Amino acid sequence: MMKAIVYTAKNEVTFKDFPDPKAGPDEVIVAVKVSGICHTDYEVLKDNYGTGAFPVVPGHEYAGVVIEVGVNVTSVKTGDRVAVDPNLECGACLACERGWAHLCENLGAYGVTTHGGFAELSVVKATAVHSIGEMSFAQAALAEPMGCVLNGVDAVHETWMKNALIFGAGPMGLLMGMALNAQGIADVAFVDISDNRLELASNFGFKALASGSDDMREWHHGADLVVEATGVPDVASGLTAYMANGGKGLFFGVCPSDSKIEIAPFEVFRRQLTLAGSHSLNHNIPRALDALTGLGETVERTVSHKLPLREIAHVLDSKPPQDSLKVHWVAT
Ligand SMILES: [Zn+2]
Ligand SMILES: [Zn+2]
Repeated sequence: MMKAIVYTAKNEVTFKDFPDPKAGPDEVIVAVKVSGICHTDYEVLKDNYGTGAFPVVPGHEYAGVVIEVGVNVTSVKTGDRVAVDPNLECGACLACERGWAHLCENLGAYGVTTHGGFAELSVVKATAVHSIGEMSFAQAALAEPMGCVLNGVDAVHETWMKNALIFGAGPMGLLMGMALNAQGIADVAFVDISDNRLELASNFGFKALASGSDDMREWHHGADLVVEATGVPDVASGLTAYMANGGKGLFFGVCPSDSKIEIAPFEVFRRQLTLAGSHSLNHNIPRALDALTGLGETVERTVSHKLPLREIAHVLDSKPPQDSLKVHWVAT
């Protein structure tokens, strides 16, 4: 038996002994070393995502060591240090036909619809693991979030963009800011309501603006790119006010699925604005690992908590610790 966090039903988080997984053909067993909490893990709990097939082990942002390979597996071997690509697409719908796994009509994922990374061992398809070389497991566990960030960047980035305004200096917003810097947008500013998060953003070298402060006035119709990374509908409804003529806006945060906002279509027309969305990641873990390598160890400063698995269960059962950024389980 192994230790695992298991949702036994909607809203039921347990920390328990769970049977060790076995590697079937084309599968590998990963001994999980670091696994991160994501907003989605709370959505799983609320049953907004996935099929609601319980019991399920949450966690889709993880890295570890391959300790067993099933028959037919040649792409990876025991002892390999790997990051996991969680997405499991159907391969048969229109989006899949177009190569858009992240938009699959029947999208599943390790840690959402089938067991994921908040367990000592995780069984995954051999094609879902990617070698991380010598990278730290903490950094490699950021590959999935960085994959989502790069998918968002791809949805909106243009070479003419000179500046970007990001609402929400959480871990995803900060990774987005770093990725935009790396794409050549030097001038990236953050808006947040938390002083701690604003301080962190400025420690990363970004401009930091307190939400509702006078400093925000100069960004009125001033940002080539505006990113919503809070998941707060009121913030989403204010994006266009900051978009420059011809500018783009990205809905990157996860707003409540039933929320609505008002947008003036005349403004979108007259100022030729583009509003875009991005969801999840599309098998770009190798590219995300490259991006993380390029950024170096500084990305690990987006991790605020390193907790034992039992504590992670507690966090999932309540809410993220005050002023937390990325929360990681680090296996001992
Ligand atoms: Zn995630
Ligand atoms: Zn599909």
